[in-house]
Amino acid sequence: MSLPALTIHEAARLLAAGEISATELTEAVLDRIFSVDNAIKAYLTLTPELALEGARAADMSLGEARRNGTTADLPPLTGIPFAIKDVITVEGVPLTCGSRILEGYLPPYGATVVDRLGAAGAVILGKTNTDEFAMGSSTENSAYFTTRNPWDLTRVPGGSSGGSAAAVAADLCLAALGSDTGGSVRQPASLCGVVGLKPTYGRVSRYGLVAYASSFDQIGPFAKDVTDAAIMLSAMAGHDPSDSTSLRDPVPDYRGGLQQSAATSRPLAGVRVGVPGEYFIPGMQAEVEAAVRKAVGVLEELGAEVHPISLPHTDLALPVYYLLASAEASANLARFDGIRYGLSERGGSLWETYLETRSKGFGPEVKRRIMLGAYALSAGYYDAYYLKAQQVRTLIKADFDAALAEVDVIACPTSPVTAFPIGERANDPLSMYLADIFTLSLNLAGLPGMSLPCGFDGKSLPIGLQLIAGPLQEERLLRVAHTYEQATEWHLRRPVVGTIED
Ligand code: GLN
Repeated sequence: MSLPALTIHEAARLLAAGEISATELTEAVLDRIFSVDNAIKAYLTLTPELALEGARAADMSLGEARRNGTTADLPPLTGIPFAIKDVITVEGVPLTCGSRILEGYLPPYGATVVDRLGAAGAVILGKTNTDEFAMGSSTENSAYFTTRNPWDLTRVPGGSSGGSAAAVAADLCLAALGSDTGGSVRQPASLCGVVGLKPTYGRVSRYGLVAYASSFDQIGPFAKDVTDAAIMLSAMAGHDPSDSTSLRDPVPDYRGGLQQSAATSRPLAGVRVGVPGEYFIPGMQAEVEAAVRKAVGVLEELGAEVHPISLPHTDLALPVYYLLASAEASANLARFDGIRYGLSERGGSLWETYLETRSKGFGPEVKRRIMLGAYALSAGYYDAYYLKAQQVRTLIKADFDAALAEVDVIACPTSPVTAFPIGERANDPLSMYLADIFTLSLNLAGLPGMSLPCGFDGKSLPIGLQLIAGPLQEERLLRVAHTYEQATEWHLRRPVVGTIED
């Protein structure tokens, strides 16, 4: 049995039964990181002492619970090692956001999600690589290094949460956290063949997530299967007084909601699945279209009613997203001034300090977004760009509202292509932006969505199925995804990680 390859639910069972210890599990994952992460480069910072300390504490709770016969009452993530995208703070652990501008910065507090996973017993392995400030679709915009796709080390893992996606796919953790502003959990999940979930806006606290575009950002889990994504979400979600946009709605037992789906031969009877015509476009990889259509066929065999639907403003989502996300980013990133955080290039005047620090500290994509965003917000252009884009955002949301009045779930591809070669799009921002064409509209609408493995292309690269539901319908989303997963075996395939000459 390979310990790092375990899912959360398998590991939890073995831990509770005393067949493995949390320390053994954490050590096995750390050993694997030490032996293969030089090829993958998923982690920016490793925290082995923190991990082993967490594992020892978990072993104490496990031992006590076994002696008292109360293992069923243990917090759900007791002893589970997981990874955190390096845009989310862990108290006292370096935070870079994949940027030079935060070099040397130690956050004085931890994110609410990290505290919640800690309270659920989880063990922190380290921080994973990301495109600088989560801006990108390949992890090539990291100022430190590019993460490689475990299925083919010459290809990107997707982005911006490419480090977390690759870490889950390569068994360098049992699960991980990412952030999704326009697709950064779902797109890398698709390209790495794992499950990735972007919750409803406000479902999970953003306190301690470094803001990129605050009205879009949401933290979500990466997992090896749907059950694990459900376990993670239950532990992460819920109201947080430190985040005024977090929702007060009670958090369901997402995993408990999955149990019912296995009982009948047509477990999806009564579920209406909409397939949007706009999500099958010329230029997309034919194998992606074929795999997704086949997955929709499986949902139908499982009892779902499939309906063609239309989301007519889909083609406007990309320009609207990049305009609004850049506008919000230009305001959010003003705080990196050479005074308060990380890098500080002192100049002769305050102005020169700002200029030097920001010129040296930010990479080209971040600078591009700040310029574009500041332009769209400037007097004289605000009405023509920012305001107009906000109006179109409302139309895009209205498309989803209308569609989701007729169907329960929307099924479509996550990404138009499978993992592309490192370097192929790095110097062409527009072609990089197209990587998110199927994911970003639901961030505009605040809806939950997930990606799950649904096939492979001719080069043995994974393909992802995206499922979308109405606000706070994560339970339904997970139930449909789980039913599909149980009827298929795509999620069981794992990459064989080779080595690469640098
Ligand atoms: N690729 C998109 C962007 O660069 C989405 C990133 C994200 O979701 N963080 O903005």
